[in-house]
This record gives sequence, C-alpha cells and structure tokens, in this order.
Amino acid sequence: MDKIEITGAARLSGELAPPPDKSISHRAVMLSSLAKGRGVVRNFLRAQDTESTMAAFRTLGIEIEDNGDVLLIHGKGLHGLREANDVIDCGNSGTTMRLLTGILSANPFFSVLTGDSSLRSRPMKRVITPLSMMGALISGRDGNRLAPLAISGRKLNPISYDMPIASAQVKSSVLLASLYTEGITMVKEPVRSRDHTERMLPAFGADLRTDGLTVSVQGGRELYSQEIDVPGDFSSAAFFMVAAIIIPGSEVLLKNVGINPTRTGLISVLQSMGADIRIMNTRSVSGEPVADIVCRGTSGLKAATVAGDMVPSLIDEFPILCIAAARAEGTTMIRGAEELRVKESDRIKAMAKEMIRMGAAVEEHPDGIDITGTDTLSGADVYSHGDHRIAMGHGRGRAFGSRNNDDPRRWRCRHIIPRFLFTHPRIDGMNAVIAIDGPSGAGKSTIARLLARELGYQYLDTGALYRAVALGLLQHGLNEESTDAEIIAALDRTTVSFREGKVFLDRKDVSEDIRSPEASHYASVFSARRAVREFLLDTQREALHHANLVAEGRDMTTVVFPYASWKFYLDASAQERARRRALELRAKGYDIDEEKIRLDILERDARDSGRDIAPLKRADDAMFIDSTGLSVEDVFRHILDVIREGRQ
Ligand code: C5P
Repeated sequence: MDKIEITGAARLSGELAPPPDKSISHRAVMLSSLAKGRGVVRNFLRAQDTESTMAAFRTLGIEIEDNGDVLLIHGKGLHGLREANDVIDCGNSGTTMRLLTGILSANPFFSVLTGDSSLRSRPMKRVITPLSMMGALISGRDGNRLAPLAISGRKLNPISYDMPIASAQVKSSVLLASLYTEGITMVKEPVRSRDHTERMLPAFGADLRTDGLTVSVQGGRELYSQEIDVPGDFSSAAFFMVAAIIIPGSEVLLKNVGINPTRTGLISVLQSMGADIRIMNTRSVSGEPVADIVCRGTSGLKAATVAGDMVPSLIDEFPILCIAAARAEGTTMIRGAEELRVKESDRIKAMAKEMIRMGAAVEEHPDGIDITGTDTLSGADVYSHGDHRIAMGHGRGRAFGSRNNDDPRRWRCRHIIPRFLFTHPRIDGMNAVIAIDGPSGAGKSTIARLLARELGYQYLDTGALYRAVALGLLQHGLNEESTDAEIIAALDRTTVSFREGKVFLDRKDVSEDIRSPEASHYASVFSARRAVREFLLDTQREALHHANLVAEGRDMTTVVFPYASWKFYLDASAQERARRRALELRAKGYDIDEEKIRLDILERDARDSGRDIAPLKRADDAMFIDSTGLSVEDVFRHILDVIREGRQ
C-alpha cells in the first residue's frame, strides 16, 4: 500500500507510487480501439477524463472489458468504428475531444462532440485548422472555434504542417488523422511538446519517424493490438516532489514515475533552484522511460528563470512551480507560457490571484508571472477555478505551513483529482467520501457504521436527516397536502444537524424519535419535495469539510457526492429487507407485522425511485452489491477490500 506521512504542517516522509499517467492512459485506449485484435492495458488511470475516452469509444462500437485490474480492448482496426447514435460527451477532457476530432474526421460518418462548460469554452480552432487542410469537414460554435463540434467524416489527404504553437494534442490529432491517409503527413513543432503518441504509435505498427522537431507518418497502415503498462504520472508525482523539497527534513520516495523528457522540465528547474532530487532505477516500460525519484527537503532554494524551450515540458506543473518559487530566495520569472491562459482555467491569472490572496509577491505578465519568494504564506479563501492542478498546487501551498482557513467549498474540481489523493487526505485537507446508496433495509447504515469505525471516518446517516426534517414539518402541522410555500416557510424556522451519530432537530436530540414508523413514512413523503432536498443539500456537503465521510442514503452517489472517492449501491430482496427492518424495530420495542413492513418498504421504494427529484437509482459507476443471503460481515469485508485495494 502507498504510504506517506505528514507530521503537523511541517514534514513529509514516506513512499508513494503516483497514479497512472493520464495522457498515456487516453492514448492506450484510443490506439487499442483503432488496432486489430485484443489489446491489454494495465495500470490504467481511472479518472473522469479517461473514463470519457473509454465511454466515447464504447459509443463508437468498441467493446472494452474492464475487470478492475486490466482493460481488455477489442479493437476493430482503423476502419472498425461505427457511427455513434448520440452526441459524444468528452466531459472535461481536452485530450478526448481534440484527439477524437482527428480520428473522426477521417471516419466516413457523422459525429458530434461536446463537453462540459469548461471544455466548450476551450479553443478547438487549433485542431480544426490543420484537419481542414487535410480535407476534414468540421463545424462548431462561434465561427468553428468552439465545441460542440459536428464532424462529417471523409477521406483525408496527407499534409505538411508547421504548427504555430507547440501542442501535443494538436500534433496527436493530426497524426491520428494521418493514419487514414495515403501518403506521408509531416508535422513540425516550434518546440517539442509531449511525445506519448509518437512513442506509442510505432509499438502498434504505425510507420512513424521523428527527425528533430518534425514527425512524419506514412498513412494507410493497419495498427495491431499491444499490451501496454501505463507508467506513474509525473504531474501527480510533481506535487509531492515540491511538497517534499520545500519542507526541510522531508524525504519522499516516488516510485514508478514516468520520466518522459517532454514532461520532466520541472525536475531540471527545481534542481537548478538547488533542490535535492535524485533519479534512480531508470528503466523503459512500454516505450516510456520510468524511474524512482527521491526528493529531500532543504532550506535555501534559489529563484530561477523559466522560458523558451523549457516551458512546454513543464506546462502542467506551472501551479506547483509557482508554489516552489514562492518559497525560494529571489524572484522567479516564468515567460513564454501564454498557452496557460487557455488551459482548464486561465492558469496564470488564477495562480496570480490566489497566490496574492495567500500573501505572495506576484506580478502577472501576458505570457507568464514573476514570483518573489517569502518565508510565510498566510491562509486564505482559495479558489481552484475548477482546475484540478490549481487546487493541488494550493494544497501544497497549505501543506507547507500557511495557517489554513481556506474554504473547501471552493475546491470545486475535486472530481478530476485522481482517487489516490483522497486516500491521503491529511496532505491537503481534501477529505474522502465513501458514498453508499440503496433502498430501505439494504444494510447501508450497518455497513456504513462499520466502515466508518474501521477507517476512522465519520458516518453520515442522511436518512436520519430526512427523518428529522419530517418530524420538524409534522410539528409545524404540515402533511402531504402542504404547499411548497408552506414547506419553505417551515424549513426557514427549522435547524437539523448530525453530530457523532446523533441527529438534532432545533438543537434537540431526536435520534430515537426519528425511528418511528410515522417518521419513516413522512421522511419518504417529504423527501420527494424539492424544498426539502435543497434544504439538506448543504448540510450534507458541509459534513465533508470537517471529516472523511461514509455517507449513505438515496442520492449520495448521484447528487450529493457524485464525485465520491468510492461509490456503492446496496440492495437486497424486499422480503429480506422487511425481515431486517422488523428485527430492528422489534428490538426497539415496536409491535411489528412483518408483512405490513414489506408493503411499506415496497411503497417507499416506489416513491423513492419514482420521484422527479433525486430519485433512487444506481449510478453507472457505483459498484452493485446484492446483500440477499450475505452476512453483514461478508458485505463489509468485500467493500473494505475494494477500498483498500483502491479498486472500483
Ligand atoms: O434511510 P432511511 O430509511 O432512514 O431514510 C428515510 C427516508 O428518507 C427514505 O425512505 C427516503 O425516502 C428518504 N431519503 C432520501 N434521500 C436520502 C436519504 C433518505 O430521500 N439521501
């Protein structure tokens, strides 16, 4: 198991294997889908972006088996994709959208690509321009600049393209399109960008050559499936690298890290600043260089100047480099980084703004930033600007001793941060949530309580909150017939909270009262009302700001914590659930008719799943567990194994 320890705010020690590389994970799925035969991808990164790529290829007719440890991809060859019968959603992933645009431009059918609001505002012209030169027919919003993109695939011609800016996504998009052409396509970059596509394509049988800054591909050759081992992500390792080097006395061993030279500019810059970083055990894994990296914390880092060719190789590390610069003596100048203004956020502006909030001396430039180091950064409300790298950068900022009072509600991008970071919540204050949904009596609360105890997390019983609200509304004389306005007015005068396993209504402990059959019935009735759900939404999310959570209910995985670190859906037959509930209620002294409970459960199931707002349903990415016939211990152990192994 990965280990890392932080003592107080001051020292990092331990070892850690970073999560799999995202760029390589994307490409492994893409090339395997376009190749003939069954491809194997090990150590695939499970994150929202890479899942967007998997989902896109599934929509395009590729079968991808996911057994938890490896992906088996049944590639159908270059011409095996079929028209998707819906819009393809690339989520937040620029890689998915830009690379797919290249592939789909050459496939003889119609495709529409869209994404979330951030992706829909990112520039697409840069891929559309060269692809159009090859003959592609792509249209998009805002004069063909922005997604959604509509692509009418057709035969493309090879081109020779001088890229105006270095961009691995643009280069890869053209290279992938060129596989479908007859002839040689040449792409020349002003400076070298990431070369994962160039490293992987020849392994699949493509005829690709690199000569200085020019890559050429002879189109028309089929690809053949491979086994790919995805190395650890350098960018994720970079956060820990910087955290370790800026905290004197730290020593961190980062294992199995991809050290592709187009990605590791940060190491050279940090070493030039005087950081103690050692690369050991270098080896080649699936065409990519991989190593173990030891980072030690020292005081006395010196400022650096970063510009020109160096910039593309540390573009993603910009936020974390800013943090290192803020701790170095002198003024670090970063230039030639205008590309950063069109990333997931305008990273230059975002970092400048947030670092100023933390008390750093910063000057923004059109293509970069100046940062003058200081000994102390102070706590602040820090905004992630929806960008995971910014959030992680500030996480490191906090780790080295700013007295933090930043408001985690601002960390709106937690869903894109790889799951493994949640397993080390003390590092940056981002707490983990294990979300469990399912119908009444499925065993959620027992399991959640056990998990919370085992893991030292807090148990959040959201059913108890709905029950308490129901009691409150009943006390105000409300019922099924009450109007929204009446409910809102009553909620205005109601407070509900959950602390240490107890639920409070207007500060009174109602933990026992809420278990009555009447409270059950009205919890189910009132929980279908929008005002009630909205009333409790903040209370539930708020809990995550204070502790790691095991949260259970009906909409934990779908609405309240859709980006939970782990998601489970527990179910059992109605008969078994009624039996469990009856036992529970009898133990509490209620006189119970089991058949009546069963009917009540069925009625509540129907209401919970049939309501318009936050209906009970299984999230696609939640693990389904039918606990009929299983003991509590069986289910608990199973879930614990999944969590401990980082699977899902
Ligand atoms: O889980 P429990 O039976 O205590 O929940 C009581 C009721 O509250 C459920 O029947 C359901 O209608 C509602 N509920 C909900 N959403 C949640 C938790 C409970 O709608 N997250």
